[in-house]
Amino acid sequence: MSERHDRAVVTVAGVAVDTRHWIDGRRVASSATFPDASPMDGAPLAEIARGGAAEASAAVTAARAAFPGWAATGREERARILHAIADGVDKRTEELAAVETADNGALLRSHRRGVMPRVAHNFRFFADWLLTLGHEDFETRGHSNHVSWDPAGVCALITPWNAPLMLATWKVAPALAAGNTVVLKPAEWSPLTASLLADIAAEAGLPAGVLNVLQGYGEEAGAALVSDPRVARISFTGSVPTARHIAGAAAANLVPVSLELGGKSPLLVFADADLDLAVELAVEQYDNAGQVCLAGTRLLVESSVAEEFTRRFVEKAATLRQGDPRDEATGIGPNIHPDHVARIDGFVQRALACGARAVIGGGPNTELGGFYYLPTLLTDVAPDAEIVTEEVFGPVLTLQTFDTEEEALTLANGTRFGLAATLLTGDQERADRVTRQLVAGTVWVNCFFVRDLQAPFGGSRQSGIGREGGTWSFDFYCDVKNTVTAPKGFAHHG
Ligand code: ADP
Repeated sequence: MSERHDRAVVTVAGVAVDTRHWIDGRRVASSATFPDASPMDGAPLAEIARGGAAEASAAVTAARAAFPGWAATGREERARILHAIADGVDKRTEELAAVETADNGALLRSHRRGVMPRVAHNFRFFADWLLTLGHEDFETRGHSNHVSWDPAGVCALITPWNAPLMLATWKVAPALAAGNTVVLKPAEWSPLTASLLADIAAEAGLPAGVLNVLQGYGEEAGAALVSDPRVARISFTGSVPTARHIAGAAAANLVPVSLELGGKSPLLVFADADLDLAVELAVEQYDNAGQVCLAGTRLLVESSVAEEFTRRFVEKAATLRQGDPRDEATGIGPNIHPDHVARIDGFVQRALACGARAVIGGGPNTELGGFYYLPTLLTDVAPDAEIVTEEVFGPVLTLQTFDTEEEALTLANGTRFGLAATLLTGDQERADRVTRQLVAGTVWVNCFFVRDLQAPFGGSRQSGIGREGGTWSFDFYCDVKNTVTAPKGFAHHG
């Protein structure tokens, strides 16, 4: 490692961003860098420090050294610092939003009004939850039982590019609240806001080494980090193939691992549903240009209303303006990277070649250039077709019809995923019956994307392992201990 790095600090959207790692409370360069470009137009943004085994090890060493001090810091003090981080996020909302949009292409208005306030809330919520965390003592034959949540140690947090700071802080906040120290490895396609978070945390008084940010490619920095035997917890959000590598590394060291993976979630529309609501929620699945793990990408619609639903859906989708994510009027922006757009188009072209029909879209937006994919709806797809069973992670939905509840459930549960399901029906009994049989970590009934941080969040089947949120987060990020004391536990003997 060296302190040299040609343009260590760059200006992105008017904001100064350090492109180096943040290790032990200082900036650290690497001898190599990798390029980061904007999905808005492909313009180069920065050359980012390309970490490898040495930097990963240095970050874990720093986190390990900072652990005893932070673990011993009282809950109130930890909570106070987390609130100060939240204040720092609030103060820099506009800057964070502008940088995130430049870096990952998601809508500026949503970063400003939804995402960054939520980032601050991640810190406030887990700080407050920490102060109420507890389990009533109970007795066993006169012995008292006392449950406590001990911090586990160094947490390796590996995050994706579709909601960079939001998903990073959803892990960083509970891990720190619990008294752990952290090495965060953001995705190489969206590395910038993690660097700003390091600045904010330092300004808030988080001690050196408690939060470290390691930049670099997954196969280099990420792989080295998760295989370090000093790591006590691994939390990952990303794709299934990468999860297999990470689970392998976790297995070698027998480290608890939390995996939040992809989905191919169904959105079920029964004939008794409010069709306007159904159409509105269906079109919402194009949010973030379809790069949302929770997206209900399989529209399953009862046959008797399918034609009417499709007509209204097409009408509504036509009002979505595609373009610059900084523009208030834009409804759908670019995808993250030309490679990703090529991957999305591969899925669509293979589906079309197999007989699918594009009701809308079906290819890149040729007017806007290589990063923009047209919102697409495909029909005439077989239940076992690749486009129905594999995650596309782009603005591509399929529509299938059903005649009975059983058929709807068979289709809904018919993939290897089980992240979420959205159900539209006017019949509460049906909602209860169907919900019970859906394989999904989250079910939304007549709504979508309502997420409370105290709710368990995670996926079934290959959508993940474990749940995070509220107490579930503390269960994961802590070594939970039960202390049993004898009735005369403190009597003197002899
Ligand atoms: P994508 O959604 O682009 O397929 P991935 O699931 O591969 O993303 O990436 C999510 C995160 O995992 C990124 O931060 C990436 O750098 C990281 N990553 C990729 N491969 C590995 C690996 N072998 N070990 C650890 N982290 C990895």
